[in-house]
Amino acid sequence: MTNPFIKELMNGKENGSFLALDLGGTNFRVILIQITDGIFDKEEVEYYNIPKHLFTEEGTKLYDFIAISIEHFLTNRGANNRHYDLGFTFSFPMHLEAIDVAIHTSWTKSFSCPGVIGKNVRELLSSAIQRKTNLDISVTCVTNDCIATLVYGSYFDKRCAIGLIMGTGNNACYIEKTSNIHKWKDTERSESAVVLEWGAFGDNGVLDFLRTKWDRIVDKKSVVKRTYTFEKCLAGKYLGCLVREALVTLAQEGLFCKGKAFTDELFYTKDVLSSYLELEDVTDDDARIAQYVCGLVSYRAALLLSLVTSMLLNRMDRPHCTIAVDGSLFVHHPRFKPLMELLIEQNAPGKSFSFLTTKDGSGKGAGLVASIENRIRNS
Ligand code: BGC
Ligand code: MG
Repeated sequence: MTNPFIKELMNGKENGSFLALDLGGTNFRVILIQITDGIFDKEEVEYYNIPKHLFTEEGTKLYDFIAISIEHFLTNRGANNRHYDLGFTFSFPMHLEAIDVAIHTSWTKSFSCPGVIGKNVRELLSSAIQRKTNLDISVTCVTNDCIATLVYGSYFDKRCAIGLIMGTGNNACYIEKTSNIHKWKDTERSESAVVLEWGAFGDNGVLDFLRTKWDRIVDKKSVVKRTYTFEKCLAGKYLGCLVREALVTLAQEGLFCKGKAFTDELFYTKDVLSSYLELEDVTDDDARIAQYVCGLVSYRAALLLSLVTSMLLNRMDRPHCTIAVDGSLFVHHPRFKPLMELLIEQNAPGKSFSFLTTKDGSGKGAGLVASIENRIRNS
């Protein structure tokens, strides 16, 4: 659990143009938002594909790429000749000492760039901007994606008390009574946001009872081995790998991928099996087996996520809790949301909750945090 150092939410007195960055999953985003008297009135978002080699090369190269992308973004809009405050959504484990002092503690998901662990994310980004561009940018805050999502959701619905990420990775933050927090002291506020980093849940073995042999194979093949146990059971980066490993076992046992026929109802499943997994002569039965395995893996992910989310709802015990969510898996998986609604109802009986899905909230929220910090500094 970590302290995100969010002192306040928006109060209607924020003004200006703010830059935001979102780094963590599959796409890197540069965002420009305009805020007038606390009203968010303009936004521009651009996605940048991170070249594959930058996931593993020296970390400073990744920061250089980020700096160059910001310059490209602003120059394209003829907006590179003024000062900006910037909020950085950095979706990896880090330890904050202040809103702009974020020590990067480890990589997760697909990244493993050497040379940056233990360093201040803000300084790494600021030096890259200085080294690679002529831009006038102050990096004023570093946030995790779940916090940015919560801040963004709170702008639309004051009852937001959980920020949830269900994308390439998985994480959540929630609002806790400050008196219940033993890890850090905050005498100014009665409530504080807490980042859970629950992807690492189970690293001490407590989830071993539910791990299958396919979970162990996925762990062995992952970039970050023997850690992020919970995340590997349910996040988008790993679900496809789990399905693949289960199908490989079925194939080895002679139960999958032997026959020939094709029907329309199974066309897409077969298409995926043949084009992505390069399987030949996929039969109706094979496609049904694959659908069944996908269903099981998705159901387990939804169940696990619902259980931990229900735990938060039961613990907070609010009249209503809006859960701000971002992440490709939650947004694009056809069954995830309804399944979670059902499973949470069963596991947090009587608790009133709703999901607020935010598009790019995990990035834009960092712009909002930058606007709040700017208002605090100038008041
Ligand atoms: C990271 C978290 C992040 C989550 C969702 C995890 O791998 O450790 O910091 O919030 O992914 O992006
Ligand atoms: Mg993301």
